[in-house]
Amino acid sequence: MSGEQRARELEDNLAAVRVRIAAAEAAAGRAAGEVGLVVVTKFFPASDVRLLAELGVREVGENRHQEAQGKAAECADLAIAWHFIGGLQTNKAAAVARYADVVESVDRPELLARLDRGATERGRPVEVLLQVSLDAADAAHRSGAAPEVLADLAEQTTTYDGLRLRGLMAVAPLGADPEEAFARLAEIRADFLLDHPEATRLSAGMSGDLEQAIRHGATHVRVGSAVLGSRPAVK
Ligand SMILES: *Cc1c(COP(=O)(O)O)cnc(C)c1O
Repeated sequence: MSGEQRARELEDNLAAVRVRIAAAEAAAGRAAGEVGLVVVTKFFPASDVRLLAELGVREVGENRHQEAQGKAAECADLAIAWHFIGGLQTNKAAAVARYADVVESVDRPELLARLDRGATERGRPVEVLLQVSLDAADAAHRSGAAPEVLADLAEQTTTYDGLRLRGLMAVAPLGADPEEAFARLAEIRADFLLDHPEATRLSAGMSGDLEQAIRHGATHVRVGSAVLGSRPAVK
């Protein structure tokens, strides 16, 4: 596919996603333009990030450190904010904070000092979202912090000068009803906001469930395949 064809494809897909977001905002009685779009560019080349920037995208998400680091370096000239949205290894956290503007997947205290160090080395604070798990307590694989430990994790986050607590992030469990999962998330968030009223971001909703997330208060959706096309099945 030529660069021009790819640009047209991304433009069409982006327009369709923006229509879906606008319809969901209206259906939820929310203001037009209230919900932000983070385009998830994992598995796709830096050239796509460049095209997206030309199409007005200002926030992109990546979930693997090495890939993200390389693309962020290649796209250093673009006015784009990089969101790290993937599982974060403790020994990579400082490196991630050197290029990521927002780290959405903070799920345990061990990451905090290292993220703070990376942010300090780069000379600007990193915005932090705490990833909360919506998985059943007995699920084999939980990604994110259990709701019970959120308050403590938030408290610890605010003690670091290099970190700015901005809110919460969540992913609906695979195979579960996103409507039910995001309703639960809205309750968790209401509790969280009592202690951290300034941390108002809620990153929830992807290509398949952004409508449900917006209905339950998402301020940002993370959309990959609906904009870029389908990814290879395994990572
Ligand atoms: C890949 C990914 C997305 C985007 O998923 P799509 O279904 O392609 O829109 C959103 N959030 C996280 C955490 C992801 O890893």
